[in-house]
Amino acid sequence: MTNIINSDYRVESIMKLISLIIIILIISCESNIEINNDTYICITFDDQDLSIYDNALPLMQEFGFTATNVINTAQIGNEGHLNWQQVEELEFVYGWETAGHTLHHVVLPEINNEEAEYEIYQDWLNLQNHGLSHDTFALPSGHATEEQFEIILNYYKNIRTSRDLKHFYPINRTYLGYFFYDSEYNAQDAISRIIRGVENKEALIILGFHQFQEENTGYPANCTPIDFRQILEFIHYNELEVLTIKEAVDKLSN
Ligand SMILES: [Zn+2]
Repeated sequence: MTNIINSDYRVESIMKLISLIIIILIISCESNIEINNDTYICITFDDQDLSIYDNALPLMQEFGFTATNVINTAQIGNEGHLNWQQVEELEFVYGWETAGHTLHHVVLPEINNEEAEYEIYQDWLNLQNHGLSHDTFALPSGHATEEQFEIILNYYKNIRTSRDLKHFYPINRTYLGYFFYDSEYNAQDAISRIIRGVENKEALIILGFHQFQEENTGYPANCTPIDFRQILEFIHYNELEVLTIKEAVDKLSN
């Protein structure tokens, strides 16, 4: 009698142990899926503000991330802006991508096609003459006419708009969107956007920054270095891969 009870008890214990192992396996598989997600992150810096070099670069280096540096080449070297030596250093030393943004940050739909061609082509030529990447273009102020899109595509392979689009594989490299970091935001706004994107299984999230002053100066797109660090920490601790736009579209488009 005692033996039967013991053996029943043993069978029950073994069954419990097996169920426990199965549960542990299921949980570990699920958490792996969550950690090893396939959402890539691109970080873009627009409009050559000097604080990109002074305040964002050291943080990017700390986490080993690279960015796409979107510049208006006619404004390089102006007061408070990056100079050519810094732009070249960001690409040749730190591995960033450089991208076009027209010579003078023109609002494309407000100018004619001849002027647009000049602004787009001369900017592209300046990148090429400095030996910099010239595959990606970001629309200044986010807009262009259909004909101007065609002009841009005579020179560039990738176009970033200003709309916060969801990108799924295969992504359209000629109509990319981005999350614009506004001066009114804090780190949590960008982090929430990333979490939403990962939950939606978006293939790519592009985060767009402009300026990195300690305190907001009235400029509409400042991110304090403290907030920027929190965003980079979140990306780092969640093991999300950061790529330049050029690298991301090569992986994610047909
Ligand atoms: Zn811009």
